[in-house]
Amino acid sequence: MNRYARQIRLAEVADEGQAKLARSRVLVIGVGAIGSSAAEWIVRMGVGVVHVVDRDVVDVTNLHRQALYAESDVGASKAESAARRLVSINADVRVIPHAIDLDGESLRGLLNDIDLVIDGTDNAETRYVINDGCVGRGLPWIMGAALGREGRVAMLRGRAGVKVVGDELRASGQVDAEVRGGGACLRCLYPSVPAAGELPTCESAGVLPAMVGMVGSMQASVAMRYLISGDPVDRLWTLDGWSLRVREIDLSDGRRADCVCCGLGRFEFFDRPSHASAKLCGRGAVQVRPAAATRVDLSRLSERLARIGVIVRSDMMLKFSPHEHPSLSMNLFADGRMILFGTEDRAEARSFYARYVGA
Ligand SMILES: [Zn+2]
Repeated sequence: MNRYARQIRLAEVADEGQAKLARSRVLVIGVGAIGSSAAEWIVRMGVGVVHVVDRDVVDVTNLHRQALYAESDVGASKAESAARRLVSINADVRVIPHAIDLDGESLRGLLNDIDLVIDGTDNAETRYVINDGCVGRGLPWIMGAALGREGRVAMLRGRAGVKVVGDELRASGQVDAEVRGGGACLRCLYPSVPAAGELPTCESAGVLPAMVGMVGSMQASVAMRYLISGDPVDRLWTLDGWSLRVREIDLSDGRRADCVCCGLGRFEFFDRPSHASAKLCGRGAVQVRPAAATRVDLSRLSERLARIGVIVRSDMMLKFSPHEHPSLSMNLFADGRMILFGTEDRAEARSFYARYVGA
């Protein structure tokens, strides 16, 4: 019996729809709470290739809402743990983990050969990077957000039926305002990123655990419909996870000709260099990135560090705590990025990096 028999029975799916899913390639950015839920459905329904991106490691406070992880994953890379779990659910799907901190440069490479992007970031600034990348490539993306008792899902795109790469769009100076149709992009709806501290975060406002599952499930439903029918759904849904009321806003006339991104073709977030180091909110940790793109040979480095501290290795990550500073513990990823636990001092984190990893 075909494992997809129950969904193929639906007239909306049928054999043709299932074949389309199998040919589809989806990029899930962020596999925290929302991304866990969306990625699980996408894999179960039989999408051909699924990329999962996450910069973080699994923390015990994630487990009440991040459904791909178990207690045995605490401390491990989220991208790798998610991929392991997803492959164990459906080995027919090619799942590709990326343990990276997303910026314009890394997104540029990931957007090749992708049909659809699902946002699981729950991070305002990263969404603007995703928006720039997707508008530039003419790709739709599905935003998902949850905070307190409210969830939001929207299919965003900005330029219907046109595929233009970012460089061409920029070279042309402006985008033809007469371009047909097109729904809204993120910047049509919210022209600028909220300032730091302006919005409440999951740390300060909390989040209803089952709400994130609903948001991820809605994203997966919108994704399935788009991948099968090819028709984007220009809608923003807001749902209240407590009263269970859903509101729907029609975005089919939402595109603004004066939008900086999809109207004027300026990709400000895509081109912006990311910060070399940043405190990770509420985690007692600092992230340090290498000055330039690099690959670290984790095997060689772990041989070197094993003499002076405690090492745990996985394919994409090395954990190390030096004997002389047992309260500090780093997670080093193959792209040279480090998350140092046990401090919120960025200078201390940079000197730790220089000392044990190399400048
Ligand atoms: Zn726009």
